[in-house]
Amino acid sequence: MIQLKNSEQIKLMKEAGRITGEALLLARDHVRVGISTYELDKIIREHIEKAGAKPSFLGYAGFPASACISINDEVIHGIPSRTRYLEEGDIVKIDVGAFWRGFHGDSARTIPVGRVSAEAERLIKVTRDSFYAGIEQLKAGNRIGDVGSAIDGLVRAAGFSTVKRYIGHGVGRELHESPDVPNYGTPGRGTRLAVGMTLAIEPMVNIGGELVKELPDGWTVKTADGSLSAHYENSVALTSDGVINLTCIDPEF
Ligand code: MG
Ligand code: MG
Repeated sequence: MIQLKNSEQIKLMKEAGRITGEALLLARDHVRVGISTYELDKIIREHIEKAGAKPSFLGYAGFPASACISINDEVIHGIPSRTRYLEEGDIVKIDVGAFWRGFHGDSARTIPVGRVSAEAERLIKVTRDSFYAGIEQLKAGNRIGDVGSAIDGLVRAAGFSTVKRYIGHGVGRELHESPDVPNYGTPGRGTRLAVGMTLAIEPMVNIGGELVKELPDGWTVKTADGSLSAHYENSVALTSDGVINLTCIDPEF
C-alpha cells in the first residue's frame, strides 16, 4: 500500500534528506585518487551519526556498510573495502541513506575521479539529465509510466540503456515502500501519482546493454558486458505546491 505523507511528515523527511545530501557532498569533497572506499564510507557514517541520524543501509538485509560504493562497470550495491582504492579516470557511484526521526532519505551520485573520458562524462550527464526529465512528469494525475518513459526516452536518445532489473521506489518510514518506480514505462500507464507521495527516483544507466549480473559477494551488481554505468538518485516529495527535492542540497550536483 502507498503511504501518503502529510506536510508534518514531509518536513521530517526534508531533515532526513538534508542529512543524506550533506553526507554525499562531504563524500564528493573527499573523492580523490588513492582514497579507499572504506574511508569514504567511514566519512559518510560519521557525518550521519554526528547529525543524530542512523545510516539506513547499515545492516539492511545484512549490508555491512553505511554507503554503497560502486566503481566503473559496477552499477549499484558495491561494498566499501579497505583494499579498494580509487584510481585516476574511475567513475565512482556513492549511494547513501539516512534515517532520522522515523524517516529515510535515499540519494546517489556518480563522481569522476580526476580526469575521466569524454564518454564517461557524457554518461554521468545523461544519467543526471534523465532524472530531471523524470521528475518533470511528477504531477498529480500523471502516472508512474510517464516518469519511467521520460527517463528511458532521454537515455535511449543518447544511445545508452537504462537498467531494468533494479528500479526506484517509494521511500518514507521504510527505505523501500510502494510504489515501484521503474526507469522505463509506457506513458499513461501504471500507478496514478498523488499529492503526498514520496519517491526515490534513481536512473541507472549503462553505456552498453541493459543487462546486469550480481557478483558472488551477494551484493555488487555489474553490467553484464563490462561497460561503464552511472547512477543518480534523489528522494522527492509530490506536494500541492509541486515537487520538493528532499535530498539535493547543491543544485549543480
Ligand atoms: Mg539509494
Ligand atoms: Mg533507492
